[in-house]
Amino acid sequence: MAFWPSVVIATPAHSGIGASLTYRSELSLAPGTLVRVPLGSREVLGVVWDCPAEPPEGLTVAQTKSVVGALEGLPPLNERWRQLVSFAGRYYQRSAGEVALAALPPQLRELDATQLARRLKRRAKASAQPDAAPDGHAPPAAPWPALSVEQAQVLAELECANAPVLLFGATGSGKTEVYLRATQRVLEQAGDGQAPTQVLMMVPEINLTPQLESRFRERFEPLFGAGAVVCLHSGMTPAQRLTSWLAAHTGQARIVLGTRMAVFASLPGLRLIVVDEEHDPSYKSQDGARYSARDLAVYRAKVETEALATEAVAGRAGPQPSSLPGGEGASALRCQVLLGSATPSLESWHAADQGRYLRLEMPGRIGGGSLPRLRLVDMNHQPKGAVLALPLVAAMAERIGRGEQCLVLLNRRGYAPVLACHACGWKSGCPHCSAYRVFHKLDRTLRCHHCGFTERVPRACPDCGNLDISPVGRGTEQVEEQLAGLLADVKRADGGPARVARMDADSTRLKGSLEVQLAALHSGEVDVLVGTQMIAKGHDFRRITLVASVNADSALFASDHRAPERLFALLMQAAGRAGRDATQSAASEMWVQTWYPQHPLFASLKKHDFPGFAAEQLAERESAAMPPYGFQALLRADARTQAAAQAFLNAAAEQGTALPHRDEITLYPAVPLTIQRVANVERAQLLVESPSRAALQRFLAAWQPVLLACRSLPEARGLVRFAVDVDPLSI
Ligand code: ADP
Ligand code: ZN
Ligand code: ZN
Repeated sequence: MAFWPSVVIATPAHSGIGASLTYRSELSLAPGTLVRVPLGSREVLGVVWDCPAEPPEGLTVAQTKSVVGALEGLPPLNERWRQLVSFAGRYYQRSAGEVALAALPPQLRELDATQLARRLKRRAKASAQPDAAPDGHAPPAAPWPALSVEQAQVLAELECANAPVLLFGATGSGKTEVYLRATQRVLEQAGDGQAPTQVLMMVPEINLTPQLESRFRERFEPLFGAGAVVCLHSGMTPAQRLTSWLAAHTGQARIVLGTRMAVFASLPGLRLIVVDEEHDPSYKSQDGARYSARDLAVYRAKVETEALATEAVAGRAGPQPSSLPGGEGASALRCQVLLGSATPSLESWHAADQGRYLRLEMPGRIGGGSLPRLRLVDMNHQPKGAVLALPLVAAMAERIGRGEQCLVLLNRRGYAPVLACHACGWKSGCPHCSAYRVFHKLDRTLRCHHCGFTERVPRACPDCGNLDISPVGRGTEQVEEQLAGLLADVKRADGGPARVARMDADSTRLKGSLEVQLAALHSGEVDVLVGTQMIAKGHDFRRITLVASVNADSALFASDHRAPERLFALLMQAAGRAGRDATQSAASEMWVQTWYPQHPLFASLKKHDFPGFAAEQLAERESAAMPPYGFQALLRADARTQAAAQAFLNAAAEQGTALPHRDEITLYPAVPLTIQRVANVERAQLLVESPSRAALQRFLAAWQPVLLACRSLPEARGLVRFAVDVDPLSI
């Protein structure tokens, strides 16, 4: 007897290899089993998708290769997981195999079955011990704070919710405590006999929120054991990733704390997915399958809930609803999704407006503190060339004197974005990109932030020999330098000099340095912190009372329709770092330097009026049929020449004329990207739009073979790669 498993492997949709490959096996293999299979002369890891006892029509024994072996001892990936992966592949126009294999820890490919068995055993042992102290009692947990009225209200409503929940909570309203309590509730529920209950907690960038991890550990390790919380993110070593992944897959870990990749973690007992800062663009992957982890989280919760309901009907899953008092039955048999933000994405906001999501609000700050007052500085009235307005510097000096801290935000690292010669007009362009190289004064380099090309700063203008080349514009290094000068005579409350520090991708490049810098701020060793947007995110700083944004104007007039939304979120998040201690909140301020103080965005910001801002933005989007009122995809092409990139795109458009749903689709002409050339590769894109998501999906699926064919057209010679980006974040 033989079986004919269809196996998915890591081939991109564009490789021309089908969705799955058929192999032969003497044994029946459960769907979801990890197997090694031959591919050409190599052996690769694959996942069994199906295992019929009959060969597919037209296939003979001689044509099929045998499965080399299965990773025994590892439970198969369950059906819900496979459903998630299939959906993601379909929706984002990739193969299921590419999504599946990218979601598995890379080290899994290198393990053989015995190594795996050993690892699993070791893990099981390790996690069995720490649960209880020697006398059989769990170590005492730190007391949990009493919930605020708003938190208690939200948790009560969350319990009854049967739609995705959007938690719209002001900065400092205590969203984390809601996540912790919701997690606790789930973990205390009995599992379904096959797996204990589990929670997936997603964050945009784990390194930026070391506090969150320690809060989850402190809260749950005393209750559920030292192995209860694991992390999953790309900053981990392959070995760490494998360990976390296995712990989640086998149910030993109860909580997975991770970045966007964690949405694909195998969690057999999943009952709650939390997406913190759900508006954050880093939830959208920018390579491979360009998925939105937030959107997939919503989908995943739905699939998990449906599966639990089906199993309950079949009588396999745990307690029946009727056997339990109150609403508990319902909560035991579903997987909830909770999206949290002080500045939700317009997509989620709109879904809540329509009633597809349930919006729960926490407008107040913990302790009753107020949000900082907005102060706009009209740069038209400041001395020419001033980087920092004098009243702002004076306000900062005053705060430092009182022992308070300030944050200064600007979105460009380095000293200056360009170095220029005023005699001949030379600028520090990158020879490989259509972008300027940034002047880094500290190590005297010109660095391209797109391709990494770095050179020492020339002594004189490379074109005309003029010695007088100078920086244009400003970055974090320069603002740090200027502030140190301007605040040189300012004394702290204890009489010492004011201390200015900087935090950006450059200052935090070394492993562990970010934690050190955050700790210095928390412990009060720094009075003013200058940094990029990484200082605006999520941190619970206790002594900051003034936040300043010094050059955000470019986002007001960017062509990208999401730029205002992003700027508003950034400024609101930044403001949210100030006055988190209620006793200091009344005097806390958010300063914004701008040349356009009349811009309507600032009027909403002044009132902390996100709903008003969102309503305006949504009205604009609606009139332009933009998302979430219309649906978009980008076809992107990289090529040796701009002409080849555009020729490929335009041919793809022309040859798609006869495809299904073409009449519901608008294809725009190919255009170069804003930064047209990066690392000597020319980039272009073509926008695809439709009022119907379904029509767009069907069109894109039918378009794939056309794209493959266009790749080999003579005019597209020099094409390096192409990719489809569904629901792109910036167009
Ligand atoms: P958010 O994520 O909504 O901006 P946080 O979750 O960081 O806010 O909470 C803000 C601060 O309030 C934190 O220092 C947190 O420890 C504290 N906090 C939250 N809930 C409570 C509570 N119920 N009682 C006391 N302090 C709380
Ligand atoms: Zn010159
Ligand atoms: Zn470059």
